[in-house]
Amino acid sequence: MNMANKKKVCVIGAGPSGMAALWNFSKLKSGNDVDVVCYEKQKSWGGLWNYSWRTGTDGYGEPCHAGMYKHLWSNGPKECLEFPDYTFEKHFGKAIPSYPPRPVIKDYLEGRWTSNVDLRPYIKFNTVVRHVEYNDLDKKFIVEITNLETDQSSKETFDYVIVATGIFNVPNVPDLPGIDTFEGTIQHVHNFRDAKEFKGQRLLIVGASYSAEDLALQCLKFGAKSVVCTWRTKPMGFNWPKGIEERPLVQKFDGNVAYFKDGSNAEIDAVIFCTGYKYSFPFMEGKLRLQSSLSMFPDNLYKGSVYLLGGNNQLFYMGIQDQLYSFTMFDVQALWICKYILRNISNEPKSLSEMKSNAQRWCQNCSELKKCHDEIDFQTKFIADLSKDVGYYPDATKAREMFYTWEHDKEKNIVTYRDQCFTSIYTGTKSPRPTAPWWQAKDDSIKAFVNKK
Ligand code: FAD
Ligand code: NAP
Repeated sequence: MNMANKKKVCVIGAGPSGMAALWNFSKLKSGNDVDVVCYEKQKSWGGLWNYSWRTGTDGYGEPCHAGMYKHLWSNGPKECLEFPDYTFEKHFGKAIPSYPPRPVIKDYLEGRWTSNVDLRPYIKFNTVVRHVEYNDLDKKFIVEITNLETDQSSKETFDYVIVATGIFNVPNVPDLPGIDTFEGTIQHVHNFRDAKEFKGQRLLIVGASYSAEDLALQCLKFGAKSVVCTWRTKPMGFNWPKGIEERPLVQKFDGNVAYFKDGSNAEIDAVIFCTGYKYSFPFMEGKLRLQSSLSMFPDNLYKGSVYLLGGNNQLFYMGIQDQLYSFTMFDVQALWICKYILRNISNEPKSLSEMKSNAQRWCQNCSELKKCHDEIDFQTKFIADLSKDVGYYPDATKAREMFYTWEHDKEKNIVTYRDQCFTSIYTGTKSPRPTAPWWQAKDDSIKAFVNKK
């Protein structure tokens, strides 16, 4: 194929989603048919899995992307997100426990991105995408970028754009009556870095999902005096250890006292908002900008990937689903998108109306999900649906049963669920128990967890 006919593909973001796209393009040996460029505003790959002490803005004055904190352990079993072709056992040369801390997961991801592939040449680091627009006449995207090191901006044209900029980086921070005069400290979990900061304090955590659950436990583990979690829709309802309790939504603050919907009140030293994130794609021109709040199947995306309101089926959003499976979901989605671009997909949709009605059916089913089990089943079906089009590993959805067990373990004991052991779908090896129970483990290094000499 001559250079002029090559399809030009722009991937925005080198987190786990964008890297899955690069990995799959590279594996399909598509170099003869496509030119792929990835723009990443951070200095390295890994997205949220990069830890940084910074909050607010980075060294270039850009909003800090990563919001992971010290002592963050995986909150799902690694066996549910393991790559079929690149297992944890293969990466570490031995079986390791089921719930690794952040540095272990990051190391594993990097292993897949560097084992028998060289993905770095695709990526332009320290480069932020400022604006993307689509020209209907020549059917191309114009992508405006800024090299943050030189502060030089330029424009490039592409045939396809894959947006993989993540969904958990722009905090949702509601206002609460009287909070401006609250006497203690206030922050969103996006800016939380180390639970030790809250030693001896009485915390109020707003929210009732994964961040609220993890921060309540983390802070107590590292010496907080007490934690009240306050919920809007429903409490988390776990069997909490002494020191953590749940109350209905805080109604107002007066000095350092928080007043709750049930008429109770509590003295508080610090408030942490664990109130989720906003979908934000400010760099996309209006007609290309996905509008959604957290969902397992955002509207207007065929196969959860092809944007249906602009861009002539040449625009894709990746990893914008609420995530249980995470890495395997990104992987099959990436394979699907790569094959779609290479026109190498079975069951190609025949028309835009067919794509729209298919997407609407998935959205409708998604809107009917009630319990965690329903969500597990739904995401399993989503992965299976993409897999059947592109021949992704048939075992990848076997993790469903493990997710059921995970949910059950959490209900049984929220403090010990991370000490449980799961069996790898691909190696058949049962993971060993962690050297220290999660509640006592305070060293999140690879050395401590993997027990490497
Ligand atoms: P991200 O990881 O957010 O990566 C997006 C990338 O895009 C970033 O590198 C960013 O710098 C780049 N970018 C953004 N805007 C631009 C731009 N305009 N120009 C150029 N580059 C840009 N998942 C799990 O499976 N297990 C866990 O235990 C787990 N823990 C989590 C804990 C926290 C606190 C949070 C917030 C999330 C957690 N997740 C976890 C979910 C997480 O979303 C995924 O694991 C994964 O990081 C998503 O990958 P992504 O590539 O879609 O997005
Ligand atoms: P989330 O799942 O979107 O939850 C947001 C929470 O905020 C919900 O409970 C929601 O309550 C509440 N909320 C939103 N607006 C509110 C308001 N105005 N008043 C009161 N409550 C409000 O976000 P998240 O918990 O931050 O999780 C994000 C991702 O990070 C998930 O993928 C999670 O797995 C991951 N994570 C992982 C770990 C780990 O240990 N590895 C730790 C933290 C986070 P309603 O139910 O009322 O809407």
